This record gives sequence, structure tokens and C-alpha cells, in this order.
Amino acid sequence: MSNSLEGKIAVVTGASRGIGRAIALTLASRGAAVIINYNGSKDRAEEVKQEIEATGGKASIYQCNVSEYEKCETFIQDIIKEYGRIDILVNNAGITRDGLLMKMSEADFDQVVDTNLKGAFNTIRFASRQMLKQRSGRVINMSSVVGVTGNAGQANYAASKAGVIGLTKAAARELASRGITVNAIAPGFIETDMTEVLPEKVKESSVAQIPLGKFGKPEQVAAVVAFLASEDAEYITGQVLHVDGGMVM
Ligand code: NAP
Repeated sequence: MSNSLEGKIAVVTGASRGIGRAIALTLASRGAAVIINYNGSKDRAEEVKQEIEATGGKASIYQCNVSEYEKCETFIQDIIKEYGRIDILVNNAGITRDGLLMKMSEADFDQVVDTNLKGAFNTIRFASRQMLKQRSGRVINMSSVVGVTGNAGQANYAASKAGVIGLTKAAARELASRGITVNAIAPGFIETDMTEVLPEKVKESSVAQIPLGKFGKPEQVAAVVAFLASEDAEYITGQVLHVDGGMVM
């Protein structure tokens, strides 16, 4: 058994900032070559690449809007052409467009579902074909506690994150016989740009719901991704791991 990722090829979507950035750095520190996907933040993605290379790791950056099906096909095929395989796929890219149901626009619903849920489908759709050939692979999808509990003002986001759990379990069942595991992580409140914008009052009331009494850090989510991607987790599939300071139990 081992938690080393030496020689593995890992794709991390939405790795230019926040949790995805921490995942890219952590997987690289365990020896994986990391493909840092971003949508708009090219400079931030470049910084992550440089940070990995400065510590002797391997990384490349790749722009792709994960909500676009055909672009995802090219994205995944280009990686396979360059690296020959994909061992780890982390579907982390995600957005929020919060608002009460009565006021939520169709565009806000569609954009969130297209990025958070369809984006994960798009990459799994193409990467799993390669993983099936390899007879091995690890897929880790980013859900959220909100996908389990729901949240007022986040109908679009909660639906997308609940969908990610369904997608994870269906894919886990379909791919298990070929040595591919598929799991989801459900973070609670983690300190990133996404939660930075919350009003102070919301932050205070959120902390009050967390038994461990504080927001989590991106590195704490990244450590769980690295575990699920490692040999140590070879008998775990179809699971949703909460990294939430005890918020949901
Ligand atoms: P963040 O700081 O806002 O970063 C989001 C990342 O997703 C960025 O790298 C962004 O890239 C990328 N992204 C957004 N849309 C994309 C698209 N269409 N195609 C490709 N990449 C795209 O968010 P975060 O807090 O790190 O969240 C990461 C994941 O964890 C999300 O799925 C989020 O829902 C989930 N999560 C977060 C929390 C939390 O408390 N922070 C809690 C539960 C779940 P660019 O900047 O390059 O566009």
C-alpha cells in the first residue's frame, strides 16, 4: 500500500485558484505530473505551474471551459496524445450564481448546472474511455454539503452538486469492473474566493453550524483528494466523503 503518486498523470479542472490549486500542488508534491485546467485565469494557472516546477514537479496548463462538450473531447484527447494516459481525473471546476428561486434567471440555473454537473460528465465521458483501456483510473468529483442538505438561495448550485453525487455513484457502478474508482468529496465552508465574497453575517452564522468551529482550508480538501487518488484507497468507490468540520453528520 502506498500514498505515492509517482509517475501518475493527473488532470485537475479549475486548478487556477482555490481548492483546485491546492489539489494540483498536493498531487504534484506526491509525484504526479499535473495538467492544470483553467477557464479564464491564465496568469493564476501559470503561477500554479511555476510553483510546482520550482519544487521539482511536473505540470502543464490547459485552457478549457468544461461546460463545453466538444472542447472537453479535444482537451482530453490532447492530454492522451501528449502523455499517453490519464490516471487521475479531478472534476473540481465550479461556480455559484446564488439567488432565491422566484428571482433566479434561466441563465443562472443553466450556467451553474452546465459547469458543475455537465462539466464533470463531459470529462468523465472522454477520460473514462482511456481509463477503460488502461483497466485503471481514479475519478474524484467535487460535490458540496449543499448537494446533500440543500440551501436556500442556491437551488441551481444544490441541484448541480446533488447531481454530481448521482453521477459519481452511477459512474462508480459502471466502471468498477475495470479497476476504475469514482468518488465524490463534499466540502463544507472552505476559505477561497468563492466564500470570501459572503457577507460577514453569513460567515458568522455559518461558523456557528460547524462543530469544529472554523472554516476549512483548501489543503485539507486536497489531502483527501490525494488519499482517494492513491493506492491506499483502492477498495473505496461510489462514496461521498465529507470534509466539512462536522457540519453534516
Ligand atoms: P473558486 O476559488 O471560485 O475557484 C473556481 C475554479 O473553477 C477556478 O479555478 C476557475 O477557473 C474554475 N472554473 C470555473 N468555471 C470553469 C469552467 N467553466 N471551466 C473550467 N474551469 C472553471 O472555487 P473553490 O472554492 O476553489 O471551489 C472549487 C470547487 O469546490 C467547486 O466545485 C466548488 O463548488 C466546490 N466547493 C467549494 C466550497 C467552498 O467553500 N469554497 C464548498 C463546497 C464545494 P478560472 O478562474 O480560470 O475561470
